[in-house]
Amino acid sequence: MKCDLCGGSVVEREVSYTIEFKGRLHIIEHVPARECLQCGERLYSPETVEKIQNAIWQNQKPDKVIETPVIDYVSIG
Ligand SMILES: [Zn+2]
Repeated sequence: MKCDLCGGSVVEREVSYTIEFKGRLHIIEHVPARECLQCGERLYSPETVEKIQNAIWQNQKPDKVIETPVIDYVSIG
């Protein structure tokens, strides 16, 4: 399979999907995706996206909660 954007090779792998909902960042781990080895473009099946959106909207209980450092680009010397 080839990437639609750059024509690079696309592989199946598990990735972390981040989505912001109600001002909070949510991370969904081990999401099956197809990723381009060349440009990094990720493709998700409609079924996968739907499952993630449903989990977020229905306030799925998180398996864990982590503290995430945030760095403003302006703060970087
Ligand atoms: Zn690509």
